Amino acid sequence: MAPRMANSEPIHIIGGGLAGSEAAWQAARTGAKVIIHEMRPQRMTDAHLTEGLAELVCSNSFRSDDHEHNAVGLLHEEMRRCDSLIIAAADKHALPAGGALAVDRDAFSATVTRAIEQHPNIAVERSEVAGLPPLEWSNVIIATGPLTSPALAAGITDLTGEDALAFFDAIGSDYS
Ligand SMILES: Cc1cc2nc3c(=O)[nH]c(=O)nc-3n(C[C@H](O)[C@H](O)[C@H](O)COP(=O)(O)OP(=O)(O)OC[C@H]3O[C@@H](n4cnc5c(N)ncnc54)[C@H](O)[C@@H]3O)c2cc1C
Repeated sequence: MAPRMANSEPIHIIGGGLAGSEAAWQAARTGAKVIIHEMRPQRMTDAHLTEGLAELVCSNSFRSDDHEHNAVGLLHEEMRRCDSLIIAAADKHALPAGGALAVDRDAFSATVTRAIEQHPNIAVERSEVAGLPPLEWSNVIIATGPLTSPALAAGITDLTGEDALAFFDAIGSDYS
């Protein structure tokens, strides 16, 4: 199947959290031009406190780092081998936490922010995408997480016909 991405067009990533920052980093590494649209600090969420990219809003733990016996640890290791920005920043600012990968959240966010802002293929626009992305954006990743702004959430619910959106917290049932 032919790829749907228009290669000459930038990739617009809405949300500069963990997912958006990693997506931007990986796309930029392949030579793609990326624009991250991050609404903070112009518009804050109910949980974020800073304007830093990849701000951890709750736990500072990425859970187990045991790649031999734990699925999350294995995912960490796979990300390391893919030169993940998020895992590299986590490793750089790791705190003692037994077998878990826990981080200094401020230093972690600062490292991710600096790497993204200094990457020649990535631009960061500090504004809310207040509704569905414009049709002229050929390549879009929505990475706005559980605190997606109300205007964008309303656009998605209208488009999909859903009456609510749900955030699936993959770690909710297992904190090992
Ligand atoms: C209260 C709370 C507690 C949590 N506790 C944990 C926990 O203990 N452990 C855990 O693993 N996960 C926890 N989570 C989930 C945590 O948010 C995710 O693990 C992680 O942050 C999700 O990353 P993300 O990139 O998807 O979203 P985020 O890191 O939230 O990034 C999304 C970004 O999109 C931006 N944004 C939103 N809407 C727009 C818009 N319309 N235009 C432009 N920018 C926009 C936001 O400002 C934000 O920077 C918690 C979430 C909440 C809300």
